[in-house]
Amino acid sequence: MAANSPRVLRVAVEAPQHSGLGVPLDYLSDRPLPAGSLVRVPLGQRELLGIVWPGEAAALPGIELRPLASVITSLPPLPAAWCALIEFAAGYYQRSVGELALSVLPPELRKLSDAQLAKRHTLTEKRLPEPTAPAEPAPRPVLSAGQAEVLGRLEALSAGVAAPVALLHGVTGSGKTEVYLRAVQDALAAGRQALVLVPEINLTPQLEARFAERFADRRIVSLHSGLTPAQRLRHWLAAHLGLADIVLGTRLAVFTPLPRLGLIAVDEEHDPSYKQQEGARYSARDLAVYRGRLESVPVLLGSATPSLESWQRAEEGRYVRLSLPARIGDGGLPAVRLVNMGLVPAQKGVSTAISPPLLEALQQRLARGEQSIVLLNRRGYAPVLHCGACGWKSGCPHCSAWRVFHKLDRTLRCHHCGFTERVPRACPDCGNLDIAPIGRGTERLEEQLQTMLPGARVARIDADSTRLRGALEAQLGAVHAGEVDVLVGTQMIAKGHDFRRVTLVAAVNPDSALFASDFRAPERLFALLMQAAGRAGRDAGQAERSEMWVQTWHPAHALYAALRRHDFAAFAASQLEERRMAGLPPYSHLALLRAEARTIEIARAFLQAASEAAAEGVTLYPPVPMAIQRVANVERAQMLVESASRPALQRFLGRWAPLLQALRPAHKGLIRWAIDVDPLTI
Ligand code: ADP
Ligand code: ZN
Ligand code: ZN
Repeated sequence: MAANSPRVLRVAVEAPQHSGLGVPLDYLSDRPLPAGSLVRVPLGQRELLGIVWPGEAAALPGIELRPLASVITSLPPLPAAWCALIEFAAGYYQRSVGELALSVLPPELRKLSDAQLAKRHTLTEKRLPEPTAPAEPAPRPVLSAGQAEVLGRLEALSAGVAAPVALLHGVTGSGKTEVYLRAVQDALAAGRQALVLVPEINLTPQLEARFAERFADRRIVSLHSGLTPAQRLRHWLAAHLGLADIVLGTRLAVFTPLPRLGLIAVDEEHDPSYKQQEGARYSARDLAVYRGRLESVPVLLGSATPSLESWQRAEEGRYVRLSLPARIGDGGLPAVRLVNMGLVPAQKGVSTAISPPLLEALQQRLARGEQSIVLLNRRGYAPVLHCGACGWKSGCPHCSAWRVFHKLDRTLRCHHCGFTERVPRACPDCGNLDIAPIGRGTERLEEQLQTMLPGARVARIDADSTRLRGALEAQLGAVHAGEVDVLVGTQMIAKGHDFRRVTLVAAVNPDSALFASDFRAPERLFALLMQAAGRAGRDAGQAERSEMWVQTWHPAHALYAALRRHDFAAFAASQLEERRMAGLPPYSHLALLRAEARTIEIARAFLQAASEAAAEGVTLYPPVPMAIQRVANVERAQMLVESASRPALQRFLGRWAPLLQALRPAHKGLIRWAIDVDPLTI
């Protein structure tokens, strides 16, 4: 080919797998462009943002190629490692490269012209002024013996040939954050950037504050869905241009291009929010591990209750296990008290929400000026309203679910589709005036605690109380400032917070997860209760009298026995043994095919046809309706695919997806289908 004749480039553009344009498309360019370059290309009548993709163009004969529309010269190309990560993730999670690549870039990139981006580039540099070292560097605590040992091992491992993946298993309050801070500090000292992933940044403003305080002389940017599009672009640019030293972000931050990456830390690595639940259903935790290998940087996964997948890998020696078995200051973990609800006498007219011994324990805390947390994983006042005369219940007309009674604004709200109405004055079916709430949510528990503990300052934190911007920070601030005696809330309050004056945590009704159909329910419950217990006695001076209360109808259950001993290892061993016997992950590999349709018959028929289309190397289970079959008038069914071998499952899915696409036209009324690889909820 003559030197100045146009060359063919592969360009990834946003085209879903379903469009048949799942691979990068070929375009002509009059000059060579490095892979990763951002360009604009014509597609049909539109002009789209694209990325010059690595690899040889196929250059099919007889197809007339169009030239690139323009090249974005104001930004450096995306790194080769970034393209490799996207390519792997797209393949693994069965999406097209272009769809995934474009969906993880800041949306503003698509909207702005080259000239506008050039301005943002300059602005990013200006808005991130050279950080000045504060007059007094932030005080650093002397490392505990455990922390020093863990960091020593991490350093030695990182100096080795292969970058390690380390699983930091540290009990709550053992100082894991300090380990992240030091590891980040080492990476920065070596001139590298650090990526720190957290489950939900707004839940733990404290963590962000600790990083900001410790690294006041460094540039830190956050990346999460709460940013405005302009902020997100600026933070992303700061990372991509190598200006930011630390990126602190949620799952989408795993895709941040970082030219000098030197460390990835994943806090609370077991947290389900690392798994994306729509579009490309990726696991940011798993991709962090992949990215670490790809870029030869150490990965530090931390948790008090690691996921069983990670724990198993540590058992097999594929991850290095680092342990912090003791709390800072050697305070003990809270004593676990199980209240056998079967023995609590029922009294007419008296609520058993809080059993007499738990009430007494709460009163003691109150008398001593200590704080308590009461945990109930259900928001609203009551999960359902009921008419005793005719049997009417507050169902949602659009979903196969009850609408929840919210007393504060007197509404019935569907937590699945959002459908909201004023509470009817009387039963809509028979006119009976006496419709009553059944069961209990956090609103009702708050009300009952206020009655049971006169004079106590009771507060509630859940998704409802924190809807407004800044509300969560204000409410957490009030707890930290000691303005709250009893805090009621959902799992939001169990995570990560370093409350200093809490000496009692109670889970009032956690049993339902013991018998849930999802095989991961016990793992999640155990993690939640361990995390919750971890909120009590964080001040070593109070650790002695700190307690975790659990009200249960099944006090002999093995899960509670392990909780009593704070024995994660024993719990993990017994769960893993059950999983091994049942052939469940991590001993097998799963994918779900989900179908949404106008009727359940259509959804099932599609899944049935899908199962007849192919089945080598995997086990296909029969299609079943989802636990909540109808949401917003859409009927949903799913089918489980299982294989003992991950590569076999991957090969199967790669062949299957195009067949599913081909099936689609024959199934009128099918709204959408999706493959979820390594699904978290089943
Ligand atoms: P974890 O994340 O393991 O639950 P944290 O990192 O929040 O624990 O640490 C618990 C508390 O101990 C925090 O208040 C932290 O500031 C403090 N801390 C951590 N390391 C040390 C240390 N080496 N010396 C003194 N205090 C420490
Ligand atoms: Zn009625
Ligand atoms: Zn609904």
